[in-house]
Amino acid sequence: MKQVNKFYKDPKWIAKRSRILKRDEYRCKECLRYGRSVAAATVHHVIPLDQRPDLKLNSDNLISLCNKCHDKMHDRTNNQLTKSGEDWVVRINRHK
Ligand SMILES: [Zn+2]
Repeated sequence: MKQVNKFYKDPKWIAKRSRILKRDEYRCKECLRYGRSVAAATVHHVIPLDQRPDLKLNSDNLISLCNKCHDKMHDRTNNQLTKSGEDWVVRINRHK
């Protein structure tokens, strides 16, 4: 966990994060699927950082989300992806 927290302070991440938000036009990608235009608050690692640290700065693995949708992607009780989170893994793999 300590390594992860350190990563979020990495200037490379901060720069990448703002590029992803810009790419996604500062809109939540999950809300957009339902036709809702909601301001993004965070950038989500589709394949979690601890599973694929090599993809931590890979644009294909990053999506902008609002806080509500981001909470929907992670099951905080066991630190695993939820069904919604897994759906995004399938979705990004399909585009390759
Ligand atoms: Zn959302």
